[in-house]
Amino acid sequence: MVRFQKLTMILLAVSAFFIWQCASAPHPYLTPESQAIHDQFDSTSVHFNRYLMAGTDYATPLFHFKGKVAGAKVLIIGGTHGNEPAGYEAAHRLLKILSETPISEGEVFILPTANRLAGLAFERRIKVPGGVNHEMGNLNRCYPGNSHGLPMEQLAFQITGLIKEFAIDAVVDFHESPVFHLEYMENSGQYHGLGQTLIYTPNDAGSWIAMVLLDEMNSTIPDGFQQFSLAAGPVRHSAAWSAGEFFDIPGFTTETCKKLPLETRIAYQLQMVRIILREAGIS
Ligand SMILES: [Zn+2]
Repeated sequence: MVRFQKLTMILLAVSAFFIWQCASAPHPYLTPESQAIHDQFDSTSVHFNRYLMAGTDYATPLFHFKGKVAGAKVLIIGGTHGNEPAGYEAAHRLLKILSETPISEGEVFILPTANRLAGLAFERRIKVPGGVNHEMGNLNRCYPGNSHGLPMEQLAFQITGLIKEFAIDAVVDFHESPVFHLEYMENSGQYHGLGQTLIYTPNDAGSWIAMVLLDEMNSTIPDGFQQFSLAAGPVRHSAAWSAGEFFDIPGFTTETCKKLPLETRIAYQLQMVRIILREAGIS
């Protein structure tokens, strides 16, 4: 009897340990480097501007960096899709870079973890009520948004509101794709992945920056699938599309390929955004 009780106790202890392990297992959200930046850049940061979706489960912080000289204003969005980590990783790294090396001219707004709940779940979109188009949980299909809609429509509406309020001059939305664009280019009729592309609004400013970016990116990348391509015309109801459609400003969807190591993708995202900031007049 005593032996049986001992065995039961051991089994219970082992089960409890495994349950505890599952509950406390780190979620694949941020790398330790970005987590440290995330912890530092909370609502007490001097660069904190406001929460979008304030007071809800979807609340997400906006940060603001301002040079001494007035100039162009650029909005950068990370974490639109929760399973595209290079985007929200690069957005966090950029917070650190801009706080350590302040800009002298212009303004940069950063929303590092736009769809925060999708990031926590490592999902492209969040769930929507039964019978509703699942893309209504995909922030990048909800622009220009709806103040009375589902949460992602409301968030898109508030991001659109920022563009109006601050008279934003360019929008950058970080994304990733599972496959290289060039790998599938020749197989017409097959899925054309968008890994390693810059999708841009085909307005004058957007086209110009896209061409400069492509030349500069590819000048340092050996021939092969890692080379970047341009794609004109962002998908309807995306952040970049909305920028061109409703504000006639350049909008960019920067796409890295998830087949590459994470740190390589983060570096590519940062390289792209720095070219866009520079060409937009931020220094
Ligand atoms: Zn995406």
